[in-house]
Formats: sequence, structure tokens, C-alpha cells
Amino acid sequence: MEILLLGTAAAEGWPCPWCACAACAEARRRGGRDLRSRSNALIDDVVKVDFNADTLMQMQRAGRDLTRLSTLVFTHAHNDHCTPAELQYRGPWFVADPPPLLHVYGSAPVVMDVRAALGDLDPLRLEVHPPLEPFQAVTTSDGTEILPLPAAHVPGTFLLRLTRGGRRLFYGHDSGTYPDETVAALAGTPLDMALFDCTYGPQPHEYKGHLGIDGVLQMAERLRAVGAVTERTRLVATHFSHNGGMLQEDLAARFAPHHVDAAYDGMIVNL
Ligand SMILES: [Zn+2]
Ligand SMILES: [Zn+2]
Ligand SMILES: [Zn+2]
Repeated sequence: MEILLLGTAAAEGWPCPWCACAACAEARRRGGRDLRSRSNALIDDVVKVDFNADTLMQMQRAGRDLTRLSTLVFTHAHNDHCTPAELQYRGPWFVADPPPLLHVYGSAPVVMDVRAALGDLDPLRLEVHPPLEPFQAVTTSDGTEILPLPAAHVPGTFLLRLTRGGRRLFYGHDSGTYPDETVAALAGTPLDMALFDCTYGPQPHEYKGHLGIDGVLQMAERLRAVGAVTERTRLVATHFSHNGGMLQEDLAARFAPHHVDAAYDGMIVNL
């Protein structure tokens, strides 16, 4: 299982074009891993988690294409994760040789937004599946199992456990402190990788809606206590906001003693 983290920023991007704070200014100066676009990921070139307006630039930068994509699963309807109008560009008016059928999964609000943005789905070769229900696993045409679990974010947000080729990825954002029933559903099944929301960086917060560094470490420990995180689980923090202020070098150093990696755009994890 190859996971390509296409983007690792919170909604406003980092540097944010509307912001001249020290963290944005320093990211502009340093470039490289401090330039963060909006979060989404590509798995084995056939599964994509979330689709936002940065996907085009991210795919160009990665030297990849989406012509083999068969599953698109959305975590939630926030614009930095779900910009369904972008999917119109797979249509026959734009692409002479349209790509194969793409199966689309998401919660009820996501399904509503996708349908509203695109109208007739047939020319786009999109099959939008009935809304995902919490704790109800579905298996896609490419053999990926999606287990949607409740998040502490906006209604209609799912944390995802994705199983493919015998490997398991927990896609843990966006969310604050996980609901007990989500932790219970993950209990006893070891993960190969867990991805955590770290929007707040070192900032104090109430663990509502997103996590910061403390919250990431707490959630990792909670999952460890129930046997989901083991010593073999790759732990990765992502979805960073400039409001947290810590640049890549500082995040990496802060997380290193805890064996958590600080994600950056273009990071590849092979499980
Ligand atoms: Zn987000
Ligand atoms: Zn800023
Ligand atoms: Zn969100």
C-alpha cells in the first residue's frame, strides 16, 4: 500500500495568501516542505481520499495522473476536503478519452453536495454510492474496505479505516478528541499507519473539532491502549495551520521523541 500525502495544510493553506504573520512569511522564505497545500491523499494511484481545488497542482507536482482512479472517498463536506465541481473536468467536453468509472463515497451531506455541483453524472463516468453510514463497512470494486467512523468535527464527518492488500490505514482527520465508540470500533485490530489532525500545532485548545500536538499524542496513546496502534504502526501528524506557528523542522523535532512523523506535501509512505 502506497500512501501519497498530496497536501498537508489546514483549510487556508500555509502560507495563506491572505496572511502576513511570521509563520507565513518564514514559510515563504524557506519554501520546500514549509509550503503546504490543502489536505488529501492518493493510495496506490487507485483510491483517493478527498478532492479539493489543489488536487490539480498537487498531481502535476507529483508527476502522477488520476486515470487509474476507481474510488474517491470523502471525509466530509468542508471545502478544503470536498470541492466536487472540480470533478467536471473528467467529462467528455474536456477529455477526449474519458477515464474509467469512478465510484464516489461519502456521508449524506457530501453526496448531496456532489450531486448538486455536477448534475448529470453519467457523462462524467461517476457512480455516487448511497451515503456511508457509521460503522458500516463497504468494499469497493478495487477491493478496498472503507470503515466510516464518527468524528468530533462537523456533522457528516467520518474518520476512515481503509484496508487494502492486507494493510490498514486510519485516516484520522478532521477531528478533535475521538468519540468513545470510534475508539471501541478500532480496538483490537492493529493499524499499519495512523494519520492525525494537528491543526493547532502547539496552541492550547479544547480539543474540539481539531487536535494539536498534545491531542495527537493523546489519541495515539488511546489507540495504543486498545491495541489499534502497536510498535509497528507508522504514526503521522498532518493538517497543519499557520496559526500553530511551528514550521516543519520544529514540528519534526517536537514529534521525533514520540515516533510520530510530521507530514509534508508529497510525502510517500509505503506499508
Ligand atoms: Zn480540513
Ligand atoms: Zn499566517
Ligand atoms: Zn473540516
